[in-house]
Amino acid sequence: MVLLRSLLLPIALFSTVAGAIEITELQSGAWAALQPANNRFNDCNSLIVEAQDYLIVVDAQEGRADVEAIIEFTRNTVRKPVRYLINTHWHGDHTLGNTLYREAFGEELRILGHATQAIDIPERAATAHTERVAELQQQLPAAREQLVTGIKRDGSRFSDQELAAQTARVGRAQAWLDANRDASFTGPSVTIDSAFTVDAGVATFTVHPQRGHTRGDLVIHFPRLQILAAGDLVDVMPYSGHGYPGEWLDALRFIDELDFSVIVPGHGPALHDRMLIARLSDYFESLTGQVSALAGKGMDLEEIRESVDLAASRESLAGSDTAAAEFFDAVQDEAIERAYAEVAGNE
Ligand SMILES: [Zn+2]
Repeated sequence: MVLLRSLLLPIALFSTVAGAIEITELQSGAWAALQPANNRFNDCNSLIVEAQDYLIVVDAQEGRADVEAIIEFTRNTVRKPVRYLINTHWHGDHTLGNTLYREAFGEELRILGHATQAIDIPERAATAHTERVAELQQQLPAAREQLVTGIKRDGSRFSDQELAAQTARVGRAQAWLDANRDASFTGPSVTIDSAFTVDAGVATFTVHPQRGHTRGDLVIHFPRLQILAAGDLVDVMPYSGHGYPGEWLDALRFIDELDFSVIVPGHGPALHDRMLIARLSDYFESLTGQVSALAGKGMDLEEIRESVDLAASRESLAGSDTAAAEFFDAVQDEAIERAYAEVAGNE
């Protein structure tokens, strides 16, 4: 995901004060650093795997406090240096922390990314970050003024409850701004455009390039540990705004062929079965199938948007989770547009 919060909230991206990162052992020598549920849309998960003399981390995350907590865990609990940091894709919530890893582990750290990330991190992630900083700098003074007067933008008064919630939101936004105003991105030091295996004993892993969530996704498979890190290709709330829905379906089929017993997804809890892969495949099949059939009838994008029916996928993916359903609704226009671009051949 990337910058989704601005779709959901008028100010400042943050619905609640997030809890701290939760680091849980998946099995001996492997940990998942999972965002708490109330921060699952804002930042990503990481996977930490222990090789004989070093550690492998998948995805850097964005929030400074969380990245520092994970680095602290590697140093003081596992007591091994991180030698491989792998970014599953260019989105800032997966890559901003690269710089902190580089500072902590120096030049011996290899940052692995898809070849396209060498372009997309500086040109897209860094640009989006700069825009977000500017947006917050512009919004925060008015938001703080509202807290002082107790009057909302529409002229009505905050209830005590609303005022407390807004105070927390503004505080969180200010804290993010203070931590990230001067943050800078670090791109990959090793770029990958075909399957790549690192022999690390029991922690041996293969990085598989895919396309779907972005034009350069990496799927990281630890066959001996039976662990898969799939980034946002396996995400209960698929975001196609920078992606390729048809190729995403191919990527899910590829993933489903691999041998693993646990998936650490980009967002949400660790998965111990393949149900989400099946649900996501159904969604992308439905989305791309409908868009392709409607385009075949000569409909334009606007007509297709009116006609596509994704209610079954919404129910299957979000169920009774209202935040997830709200997110699903907020991103379908982009998903349909991307599917249409693929059909029309002008992605
Ligand atoms: Zn993403």
